[in-house]
Amino acid sequence: MLIQELTRLASLDLLARTRFGRLACAQGTQPYVVPFYFVYDNDCLYSFSTVGQKIEWMRANPLVCVEADEVVSPEQWMSVIVFGRYEELLDTPEYQGVRAFAHTLLKRHAVWWEPAYAKTILHRTERPLVPVVYRIHGLQITGHRAIPDQPVTPPDTRLSMTDSGEDCWLQSLLRQVRGKRKQSRAPAGRRPLLWARRRASGRIA
Ligand SMILES: Cc1cc2nc3c(=O)[nH]c(=O)nc-3n(C[C@H](O)[C@H](O)[C@H](O)COP(=O)(O)OP(=O)(O)OC[C@H]3O[C@@H](n4cnc5c(N)ncnc54)[C@H](O)[C@@H]3O)c2cc1C
Repeated sequence: MLIQELTRLASLDLLARTRFGRLACAQGTQPYVVPFYFVYDNDCLYSFSTVGQKIEWMRANPLVCVEADEVVSPEQWMSVIVFGRYEELLDTPEYQGVRAFAHTLLKRHAVWWEPAYAKTILHRTERPLVPVVYRIHGLQITGHRAIPDQPVTPPDTRLSMTDSGEDCWLQSLLRQVRGKRKQSRAPAGRRPLLWARRRASGRIA
């Protein structure tokens, strides 16, 4: 597998193709990550939510991070990481134009509001639904992609008798051991090698 950097253009293309990511914000030293839907347009991510922990944290600290990816397999994927700044598109005259634009983008997708705007019961209490439209701008983006390369044969860890060169010393060791065994079988007082040769030629029984 090979991991390469994506160009900024290719990274932005991924953001434009996908809708789903993970949004991270932080309060003090505590990070908080939630799954969310967004729409990318012209260097901004647009999203819809209701007031809750993430909105309160982003209001207090607008520096956020988003991750999105396309995963085919563990060896084939693309992912982007975006650093940006939270900006709430307030329901004020100043923001009317950009709110209408965000709404046009978001409503391209069916039931775009539902994941954010759903009856939520937490700790036996229904959570109030106060809608919030926001965008993340000032995007700094990095992208990586993994591609499978040629299959690599894992190194053979078994001892090879043919190509390691170790067969030489092993065979010589075996020869010595066998030789010693033969010698130990030779009758006392005889020279083992001579005795073995004579026995092989049938000169002795
Ligand atoms: C596929 C998918 C898409 C989603 N899209 C959106 C979207 O576009 N917009 C949107 O606003 N929300 C979306 N959500 C829901 C989102 O992930 C949050 O759950 C929701 O926004 C509430 O977040 P909050 O910070 O307001 O939590 P609060 O309601 O304030 O929650 C309080 C506590 O609940 C816990 N909690 C919150 N969310 C989750 C969670 N998802 N899983 C487990 N524990 C949780 C946390 O510990 C948090 O401290 C989506 C969820 C999924 C799975």
